[in-house]
Amino acid sequence: MIIEVDKDADAGAIAALCDSLTTGDDVTVWPVSIGGRRFVAVSGDEARVPDIDAPIIVGRHSTNARGYWLVDRANGVAPSTVNVGDNPVGCGPLWCAAGPCALESFDDAVATGLAVRQQGAHALRIGIFKPRTSPYNFQGKQGPGVKLVPELKAAVGLPVVTEVLDPRDVGLMAEVADCLQVGTRNMTNQALLKELGGAGRPVLLKRGYRTPVEEWLRAAEFIVAHGNPSVILCARGISSFDTSLRFMPDLGAVLAARERTDLPVIFDPSHSAGRADAVARVALAAAAFGVDGLLIEAHIAPQRMYRPGDSGQAYDPTKISSLMAACTAVCDITARL
Ligand code: PEP
Ligand code: MN
Repeated sequence: MIIEVDKDADAGAIAALCDSLTTGDDVTVWPVSIGGRRFVAVSGDEARVPDIDAPIIVGRHSTNARGYWLVDRANGVAPSTVNVGDNPVGCGPLWCAAGPCALESFDDAVATGLAVRQQGAHALRIGIFKPRTSPYNFQGKQGPGVKLVPELKAAVGLPVVTEVLDPRDVGLMAEVADCLQVGTRNMTNQALLKELGGAGRPVLLKRGYRTPVEEWLRAAEFIVAHGNPSVILCARGISSFDTSLRFMPDLGAVLAARERTDLPVIFDPSHSAGRADAVARVALAAAAFGVDGLLIEAHIAPQRMYRPGDSGQAYDPTKISSLMAACTAVCDITARL
């Protein structure tokens, strides 16, 4: 349940309301402020939440039906623009984060970063902690890699988007990165989502490859309800009986998310396509569905990437500017249709 309180209510009155709502019946209550509006979030059986009539309450909203309220566009709370570094994602020019799947060779990461920057990318994407399906694959540089991020960022001159796997790493990663990515395999990791609510950094939330759109929005609600409204939704393909592409592009999800929330929606064509020669096609299709940005894996020398890895889908960084121009043209055309 979400209870909206007067935006000018003082902290003491909100704390008193929280206290009186907290019963012994597994009802947990916490205050949250978003975009100048103030709320008290309540988890637990709504029937057990005391029906208090405090003067600071301006609205009492059940979350039983959808499981989200703050990100619901009908309520005008979640933002339509999220800044990564100084660049807005949403309601403006197509945003692009591009870069290597993982930090492997530092020099290659810098060279790739400089190439994507020169091509007009707004951020560098790079994995330090990698979610792998085998414990024997390269797991990312992890702790020692985190220490390299400030140097990498300074050398490239772009904000850094990087994945966080473990709630215990959120604080550390928030110190060095500009945007924290939740990967498809962690979209339902609620401990991580809650921690990201306090990260003070925008979160790029990928759709789980086996999760419905409504669950993706509930995952976003976890982050927002725990204090962080800066969430970028990233579609990235879903599993299907058909594996012509590595993951089926979830283009309908872009429309569905748009209809339900104002949060920016971007697309990762790389993990959907799974092959470099299809990345541009999937990106153009996503542009036709009106995305706010793209997350693209790119590498100056894919033959040097570790294996098994994502070298087969690494896009040529020198093509990013023309891809973005083509995607922008498609966005403009479809917006007029
Ligand atoms: C990634 O972007 O590096 C990644 C691992 O993506 P996903 O979580 O979509 O598989
Ligand atoms: Mn990858």
